[in-house]
Amino acid sequence: MRRQRNVKIVATLGPASDTHEMIKLLHQTGADVFRLNMSHGSHDEIRAKHAMIRAVEEETGSTIGILADLQGPKLRVGVFAGDSEELIVGAEFRLDLDPAEGDSSRVCLPHPEIFAALEPGSSLLVNDGKIRLKVLRCGTDFADCEVVTGGIISNRKGVNVPDVVLPLAALSEKDRADLEFVCELGVDWLALSFVQRPEDVQEARILARGRAALLSKIEKPSAVERFDDILAVSDGIMVARGDLGVELPVSAVPPIQKRLVRRCRAVGKPVIVATQMLESMIESPMPTRAEVSDVATAIYEGADAIMLSAESAAGSYPVEAVTTMDNVAVEVERDPTYRQIIEASRTASRSGIADAMVSAAREIAETTDVKAICCFTHSGTTALLTARERPRVPIIALTPLPRTARRLALSWGVNCVLTEELDRFKKAVVSAVRAAREEGFATADDFVVVTAGVPFNVPGSTNILRVAPCDERLIFASDPE
Ligand code: PGA
Ligand code: MN
Repeated sequence: MRRQRNVKIVATLGPASDTHEMIKLLHQTGADVFRLNMSHGSHDEIRAKHAMIRAVEEETGSTIGILADLQGPKLRVGVFAGDSEELIVGAEFRLDLDPAEGDSSRVCLPHPEIFAALEPGSSLLVNDGKIRLKVLRCGTDFADCEVVTGGIISNRKGVNVPDVVLPLAALSEKDRADLEFVCELGVDWLALSFVQRPEDVQEARILARGRAALLSKIEKPSAVERFDDILAVSDGIMVARGDLGVELPVSAVPPIQKRLVRRCRAVGKPVIVATQMLESMIESPMPTRAEVSDVATAIYEGADAIMLSAESAAGSYPVEAVTTMDNVAVEVERDPTYRQIIEASRTASRSGIADAMVSAAREIAETTDVKAICCFTHSGTTALLTARERPRVPIIALTPLPRTARRLALSWGVNCVLTEELDRFKKAVVSAVRAAREEGFATADDFVVVTAGVPFNVPGSTNILRVAPCDERLIFASDPE
């Protein structure tokens, strides 16, 4: 499906959108990747959504990415005798390991590891940060806290512990079972929640065994601190602004977003900006001006993808939300200032032949009237390097591997076309120009840039660049073997 924009749209599926018709409509409207949230729904329900996405992919003849988002070590309090209690500022409140129902003086926090890591002075945030507790005294099975910000606490509310690196396994039992399930099902990306250290990603990589690419969600202060190390072992990043804005002051989120997007761009790994982008559209068909600005900002920063959470999963206007993102993206990318910003912030470190090749391809596209950059890719590396250049013309990634094409659905500006296995450059040029014409990027009178690595199927070995006429007769007339 040819889009009129480069930034990609990720839409989370949920009760508001998990029918075949809705998935198809969301895809046709603009969703390039669908997110399955493993915090909700049984394996049977996930399997059903997965099947619907693949059916839509087949029907529309396009490539759709599937991102399975693992819940991660999310902490929750136990239950209360009266389902909820109000915590008053200045009062004391105890968290402990006693599974008995809670009251106004205490509740269970069934995570012994947390008590081991807490210290007097540590903060605990409950219910998306609405309630703030400060630890006064603690032991191996309790923490007595002062209520710093009061409010209603109710059954199984989430708990964030921002200032402590928690000695928690990166993947819970549930995460491990979910990971195996979705990898067998065949998802393209696995998102890891509450990543704290690079080892967390490495642990998931061993379990995934190459079946899915790994996206680290940055939502802990420790992940922000160790970002470069985490990025180095991840295939992609999500700026998970929801929990990030709980664990850190909300005002810290925009500069972190800017920095993370830049770092990802520099190394050529896709980055998603997520959460509350069009929050008011859960209930309203019209976004606020501030939300439109927020979406635009992420695009101006050069993010690969922008994401809808509850807006598409549980809201009343999922299609309108995707349409809004699409419209904002088209408008921003048409703005000459956008080009200036994108070009001024190109910080790629260039060291190898492949880097030089993609940079040359981009420069040719800037100085001549070629209509597209076509790149052959097995692992996806060449397409990622090309996307890192943020060229002015569309990128057509040609690959024989559906898996590679689907992973690239998340990357800025990449249009994927499946080809047969190729062994000769001449054949590659022919299929590239055919793809460019068939997909409507060029006509017979146009030229495109074609890059490839020979021998084929060695990752990142791009070493040939040709400016090719889209008229096949001319290729055959002039091309060397
Ligand atoms: P979540 O992650 O929606 O799974 O919590 C995104 C975020 O925290 O922003
Ligand atoms: Mn989160």
